Amino acid sequence: MTDSTPDRAQRHQKRMQRKKEVIDAAIARADQEKGLLLVLTGNGKGKSSSAFGMLARALGHGMHVGVAQFIKGRSDTGEEAFFSNQSNVVWHVLGEGFTWDTQNLARDTETAQQGWAIVQTMLQDPMLDLIVLDELTYLLKYGWLDLSVVLNDLNNRPPMQHVVITGRAAPDGLCEAADTVTEMRDIKHAFRSGIKAQKGIDL
Ligand code: ATP
Ligand code: MG
Repeated sequence: MTDSTPDRAQRHQKRMQRKKEVIDAAIARADQEKGLLLVLTGNGKGKSSSAFGMLARALGHGMHVGVAQFIKGRSDTGEEAFFSNQSNVVWHVLGEGFTWDTQNLARDTETAQQGWAIVQTMLQDPMLDLIVLDELTYLLKYGWLDLSVVLNDLNNRPPMQHVVITGRAAPDGLCEAADTVTEMRDIKHAFRSGIKAQKGIDL
């Protein structure tokens, strides 16, 4: 039987009141505004889809957004079909030349550098309020791009510009530079039960 005595109700009310005071004080302290660097990493599902959720939010506020997708194999994604031809969106697919099994390091490095040059133009554009660099971490992991170059360009971006970087195995230096880092933890994935990528969920 649950305890529904007036005493319990009063204790609950007191506890919630204390909690509210703590939260209100924390909200009052967080009074800064700046362009954020967010890293979404880890082996679980939800990194890119979270980034595109923020893209939708930003567009809902009338903000201007840029996306660079460093994708592995080319597949027609729902996010590209939905966002890429909307107004206020700049959309680049930059990974088509990669050989993900690193059969040709020189070519992959060249492709990565060309892609980064396009990202640099976005990171210098104060009109862009939010930039998503989807699957960028792989370029760093395989050494196709220099972390120091990437960090330097991120540091020099317009002060109010937000950047979201996704991909597994984000390097420590990138996480240290970020304002918000989330690791998606893989508990279960349908793929391992033999279910192929589903439209609307996985692509
Ligand atoms: P999503 O785009 O669905 O948010 P993600 O960006 O977190 O996923 P990626 O590593 O980019 O994950 O992988 C992209 C694809 O791989 C998606 O189809 C996703 O469902 C699938 N995937 C993600 N995590 C796992 C996992 N732990 N096991 C198998 N497949 C996965
Ligand atoms: Mg992804």
